[in-house]
Order: sequence, then C-alpha cells, then structure tokens
Amino acid sequence: MAMFPNPPLHRSAVRVRGLVQGVGYRPFVYRLALEESLAGWVSNDSEGVLAEVEGPQPRVDQFLHRLRTEKPPLARVDSVEATPLPATGEQGFTIHLSHHSGQARTGIPADAATCPDCLRELLDPADRRYHYPFLNCTNCGPRFTITRRVPYDRPQTSMAVFPMCPACQREYDDPADRRFHAQPNACPVCGPTLTFLAADGTPSSAAPLEETVHRLAAGQILAIKGIGGFHLAADATSEVAVQLLRQRKHRAGKPFAIMVRDLAAAQALCEISPAEADLLTSFERPVVLLRSREHTPIAPSVAPGIPWLGLFLPYAPLHHLLFADGRIHALVMTSANLSDEPICIDNDEALTRLTGIADGFLFHNREILQRCDDSVMAIVEGAPQLLRRARGHVPLPVPLPISAAPLLAVGGQMKHVFTLARGLEAFQSQHIGDLESRPALEFFEHALAHLQTTFEVTPTAVAHDLHPEYLSTTWAQEFAARHNLPLIGIQHHHAHVAGCLAEHGLTTPAIGLALDGTGFGTDGTIWGGEVLHFDLREFTRTAHLRPIPMPGSGIAVTQPWRMALGAVASLLGPEATANLGFPPAETAILLQLIARSRSGPLTSSLGRLFDAVAAIVLHRHTVDYEAQAAIELEGIASPDDHGTYPVSLTPVGDSWIIEPAPMLAALLQDHHAGQPASHIAARFHRWVAESFAAAAQRTSQASGLTTVCLSGGCMHNRLLSRMLVQELEHLGLRPLFHRQVSPGDGGLSYGQAAIAAARLASL
Ligand code: ZN
Ligand code: ZN
Ligand code: FE
Repeated sequence: MAMFPNPPLHRSAVRVRGLVQGVGYRPFVYRLALEESLAGWVSNDSEGVLAEVEGPQPRVDQFLHRLRTEKPPLARVDSVEATPLPATGEQGFTIHLSHHSGQARTGIPADAATCPDCLRELLDPADRRYHYPFLNCTNCGPRFTITRRVPYDRPQTSMAVFPMCPACQREYDDPADRRFHAQPNACPVCGPTLTFLAADGTPSSAAPLEETVHRLAAGQILAIKGIGGFHLAADATSEVAVQLLRQRKHRAGKPFAIMVRDLAAAQALCEISPAEADLLTSFERPVVLLRSREHTPIAPSVAPGIPWLGLFLPYAPLHHLLFADGRIHALVMTSANLSDEPICIDNDEALTRLTGIADGFLFHNREILQRCDDSVMAIVEGAPQLLRRARGHVPLPVPLPISAAPLLAVGGQMKHVFTLARGLEAFQSQHIGDLESRPALEFFEHALAHLQTTFEVTPTAVAHDLHPEYLSTTWAQEFAARHNLPLIGIQHHHAHVAGCLAEHGLTTPAIGLALDGTGFGTDGTIWGGEVLHFDLREFTRTAHLRPIPMPGSGIAVTQPWRMALGAVASLLGPEATANLGFPPAETAILLQLIARSRSGPLTSSLGRLFDAVAAIVLHRHTVDYEAQAAIELEGIASPDDHGTYPVSLTPVGDSWIIEPAPMLAALLQDHHAGQPASHIAARFHRWVAESFAAAAQRTSQASGLTTVCLSGGCMHNRLLSRMLVQELEHLGLRPLFHRQVSPGDGGLSYGQAAIAAARLASL
C-alpha cells in the first residue's frame, strides 16, 4: 500500500449567530463535518451555536463555505465567524448536549408546518407513521404552543407525559437521524391520540378521523383541536353549513378563513402570484389574503360582499388527513370562540364554551399550553406583510434599531398585542384579541408571564397609549404602581408610524402618514388621518383631515350612515343630506345636535371618512364588523376608472388641513347623477392618495425629509397602498411599509417599545 504524507491539519473555532437553536442546527453541523471528514465538536450556548472543526485546510474551507450557503429549513443564520486555532489531533466529531446556563436568550422556536419529508411518511402505507396525525421531526412540528417554560426540552413540553417508545428514542438519540432531539417526536405506539365526541360529550366508538370527515361532508359543524387552539370547521362549499356556522357563532358578515388541500386547490379558487404561493407554502403557513376567482364552488357567505378570500394550507398532519381521501375540498377553519373571546385550547373548555355551536368534537390528548391563533398575511407592494402576527411567528423577536432597557409596551385595546423589549430585540406577543372580556384579560396576563419568563425580561418601564379608557392603559397604570415603574404615555399615531420606521432599522426623522380608524389625540379630539413629522422621541402634526362629527360617538362606528350624515352636514350644510336615504326621524334629531356641535366628538379619522363614503355610495348603513364598509368600498373600486376628486389643503400656521368638502361635493354630484359605485369608489381612493401625498410633500418641503412611513389600520387597504406608492414616488418621496409588524393596532405596542427605548436612552 502506497503511503501518502498526512496533509497538515487546521483547526477553526466557528461561531454561528441567528435563529439556530431548536431548529436542528447542531445535527446539521454534525452532518456537514462528517461529510467533510472533519474532527471536532458542536454545542449550543447563550450566543447561538459554537463549534470547533479540524482537518485539512481545503476541507475546513469547504465546511465554512457550506455553513454560509446551506442551512436547515427552519434556521435563520445571521453570521458565521471563524477563528483559527492550533490543531489538537482530535479524533471523531461529537455533539455536546445543551447546558442550561441560566441564560435563556435563545428562547423557544415558533411552530412550523409539516415538512415535505414528514408529509411523505404520513401518506406512505409502508411507513410506521402512516396516517399518524402527530408525526413531526427536527424540521417541523409544534414548538411554542406545546412549551411550558424554557429551556425548550421535552420535559418542559406537553410531550412530557408521552415516554418515547424504543424506536422513537433511537431516532431522538441518533445525530444522523432527522428526528435527533426533535422534542415532540412521537409515533402511533407512544404518542398522542385522537378521540371523537358527540355534541353532548359522549365519546364515539367510530374511528375519529373517519367520523370527522363523514360529518363534515354531511354539513355538520365540528370543533377540531389543532396546534394553537380549536378551530370550528365546516364544509366551505356548503352554503347551508356556512350559514349555520354564522348563526351559531353570532358572526354576521365577517369573512371566514378557509383551508384547502394544497397549492393547486388554492389556485383553482384564487389568483395567486409567485410571492403569494411562497407565502402559502411557507413553514409559517399563514392565512393569506388572495383575490378570489369568479364562479368557484365556495359558498357565498364565506366572504360576503368582498372579492378576496383568506386562504391557508394544512399545517398539521391532522389537517392533511382531513383532505386525504378527497371527500372534503375546502373547509371553513375559524378560531373556535364566541365573537371576540380568546380561542379555546382545552378539551373541557371546548365542551363547555362550544356547546350549541359544535355538532361534535375532534379532540387529541396533547395539551396546548400557549394559545395561538393563525397568522394573517398579504403580499403588499411585492413583499409579505403581517396583518395578524401569531402562529409561526411568535415568539421570534423583531429587531429594534435602538437598544432598549427592559420594558413592557401594552399596546392598545382592540386586536391587542403587547411587546416586551430588551436590547435590540422586541418580543411581540401572539394576537390576544379585544381586551374587553375577562377571558381576554386573563389570556393577556398569562401570555405576559410566559414571555417574561421565556426571555427573562423584567420591565423597568411601561409604555401605554394615551387613551385614558383603554383597558391596556388602566392596566399599565396599576402594574406600574404595583412595581414602582415609570409610565411612558405615547400618542397612538406616533406609535403607529414609529413602528414602521423602527422595523426598517431607522432612527432618523421621517414623515409619517397615520391612516387609521381612531386613536386618542393630544388635543382631546379623535385622530386618524394624520401627517406627522417625527422621530422615535417626538412628533409634530404637520397636516390632518378636517375633523368631522361622529354622531353618537361609538355608535357611529357600527352605523356608518351617522358618519355620512355628520360629514355631509358639517362640510356641505344640512340641506345636502337630503335624498341620501337616511332614517328621517333620527336624521332630524342628529342634524339639530350637529348644528349645536353636540352630536358627539370630532374626528380626523380616515377610517371614519371611508365609512361615510361607503354609507352614501354603497348604502351600507350599518356594519357587522369593524372596517366592513371600507373593505367593501375597496372591493368594488373599478381598476378602469382613473378619475379623482379635487384635492384641497388649507394652511393653518405651520400645518395644513386636508379639506374633504370639495371631494364630498363632487362625489355627491356623481352619486346623484347615477355614476356607478365602482367608479366613485376608485375616485375616492385616488383622492385620498393624492391628498395625503400632497400633505406629505408640504411636510417634505418644510423639513427636507423624503422617507414616508405608512401605517394605521387603513393600510390594510391594498388599493390605497398601491395608489399611495404611485403618488409618493411621483413626488420623489420614499414610502416604507410595515412588514413584520401589523400596520393596524396589533403593531401599536412595537412602535410604543421603539419610542420608549429612544426616550429612555436620551434621559
Ligand atoms: Zn418533518
Ligand atoms: Zn414512538
Ligand atoms: Fe390605530
């Protein structure tokens, strides 16, 4: 045998930072090292993953190159740093187990949808996990929702009560196996199981999945336990079933999300761009808002009156199995709750809370420890935007552009989300919902305690909205008093636009367009159509919509015709309200009150102006859910109409008032002349975009700033987003959209955290 001289050995220490724990990164490093015939070890520590490798130089170089270009599916690599070390002659490669050092900086991974390898096993009759609804691996499965506390290890999860069988244990212990250290690893021998219960709670002797599919196909409404909570499921192609669900859930018009078998099934129902397809099939598996095709088998009452569908693909093995035999094509899968209460997670809770709603229950015995709704996303101007941040994203941090002292930002009242911040990271909670009910408040406190322990954040300050009646505000005041912490009150729209700036990594001053429903202003009126010159510390209001009355205050939100009456009467005079078809008796009383400025508060809200226009143009006098009128107006706007209405800005001192009166006069003229609503809707949208772009331009001329942060609930309107981009870019301004943080009130607490961090830093 010929002898070759041994090549000189090189050793290198490798530090990998990013999202590299709980995602199979160490076995990935192990596999690469074996493939490159390197010796050494790999380990987790408080900063990420640390490894040392030793071998011939070209092999070490190749290893480092692959670390920089390859990764396991769920990992996110921020940096790979290599430092040369003296060679030691070490033999073999080992994975060091996690040592819990008391440092929990790396937290818990987010839940991930079933990976292609697991899906193949699920549908392979020869596999030992064939049709097993709880299979998972290092690259997929539940994480956040099954974890009680850090560190993320099986004994701390709801899998602790399922000791692994020898076959599963072998996979778990084998670094070369796809299930090495997959904490929820399970199989039909050792793992969780399904049961089916009838409406009265009696267990069924039939096979649970078969019973479920059979009943769904027969038009029943079932409660199905999933990853982050229960869904109420119904056949989305059955108008009778969907109507029944609406009736029982007391949910009149708000669109339901639907789940279909796969991307091809989704494409048959909706127009799907490549970016939207990527989002639908991503590991996060959000509900994606898509443009519906015409003449599909989807029941009309799934999303009445609007041309979009919220669509998502199966993300748990159980979901895949519901569609496996082809009897079910599309399912309404809506959070199992009553109106705005938190989603059900517990079997007993489901039985009591969903009595009278569900015709049966598909249970499993893997406990859901953290409640988490489905995330909702859309492609906005070519890139993904999170509208509701929950499953798949929580508890991953969103970066902050400025280092934060440990703090808590409690957000707003509706679509509540809180944020814990420390250093350059902001941890947003999952979507909590509307903070009005006691269950929601309890959910908030539970989620807060959990995230505080997970990320070891002990707040040193509390940020809150200025609205004195938000439950989040009074809660913050009590919490701060109890813990003797400073309170930082932050104006609603400043928080909106600051969040947009901060998530783009910027701290410099910018122009903000806060196009919103309602938020508490600094002058006692209700704001929501604001142009701000701001940075992360403070703001000035450089332009806003002329305030109009909200007749009846809160009632005006659910009765847009009142907004229309208030707008027309105050801007054009009471006689202009004739022939609009509003209830005559109430109109007469309200007109008197408006004339005496006693009908309710004033608001500069763009959302309320949308309501007013929808009430006139669509005769949409009342709404079943927030923003319904605006959504319908966006939905019918004709893409072929390029008209607009007169833009008018009045200077007042250093600021400007955007005047809706000339627009409203022209719009009424169109309306009375019988112009189609689709054209009026398009013109109104363009007027909004042109008016706010013009106001942004005035602010730019006065300040020299060109970056424009777009935020607020109206930024859910993608037609408006598109028109704003056109107008702003035409004027040489640079629009920025929210991406990881919701533009609506769900994003508020992140903006509050950024502002609080900046204010505390400058003390
Ligand atoms: Zn998998
Ligand atoms: Zn097993
Ligand atoms: Fe808001």
